[in-house]
Amino acid sequence: CGIVGYIGLNDTKEVLLNGLEKLEYRGYDSAGIAMLNNNGKNLFKVKGRIAALRNKVDNTIQSTMGIGHTRWATHGVPSEENAHPHQSASARFTLVHNGVIENYQDLKKEYLSDVSFVSETDTEVIVHLIERFFNKHQDTAEAFRQVMSLLKGSYAIAMIDSEDEDTLYIAKNKSPLLVGLGDGFNVVASDAMATLKVTDQYLEIFDQEIVLVNRSFVEVQKLNGTVVDRKPYTAEIDA
Ligand code: GLU
Repeated sequence: CGIVGYIGLNDTKEVLLNGLEKLEYRGYDSAGIAMLNNNGKNLFKVKGRIAALRNKVDNTIQSTMGIGHTRWATHGVPSEENAHPHQSASARFTLVHNGVIENYQDLKKEYLSDVSFVSETDTEVIVHLIERFFNKHQDTAEAFRQVMSLLKGSYAIAMIDSEDEDTLYIAKNKSPLLVGLGDGFNVVASDAMATLKVTDQYLEIFDQEIVLVNRSFVEVQKLNGTVVDRKPYTAEIDA
């Protein structure tokens, strides 16, 4: 199981697929990517290998932001429907998640009794909650912080808001996640190994922090919105 994300110029597809290939060693049963793109289909999922995902992805897609996932199923069988990324009902929000949301049944009962789910995953609860809280405040970062505060369990999350092509939303609790800094682009990965090809500068992210990742800057915040100062370190490349 692993996550990769990219925001930058037009290299999204290659950075995501290469990154997922580098994460294959962690084990998985399905995989998928979503790319922000305004002409049509941008979500691709498969049960099985990254090679199959590579074949399925439309090669003509140009995109400047995207997220990718390899799944180790915990809730719901390995299948295309249960593979990540998952989307909110309006398809505005799209996210990937590693980990287990322990209170997903309670959250579903309390906030989402009127929502029809397309997967059996605990993850899908998160993306519907984001849309619900967004509809209250019309503020994605605020909705993201509020939903993260409700989750119990482990998560590494990367989310796209299709109305905002300048921000990747990241969150972490008890599952690994790093942000890699580039020149005119930034990346996100469960393991620096996934993105060493494009940068060796990384920010460590601590539990219960979120990160707003732009092309040219990165802002780490606590769940109450306080901004945290974080210095990058240089990842050593294994020869
Ligand atoms: N619990 C989620 C699922 O079953 C994420 C699993 C993972 O970490 O890959 O879909």
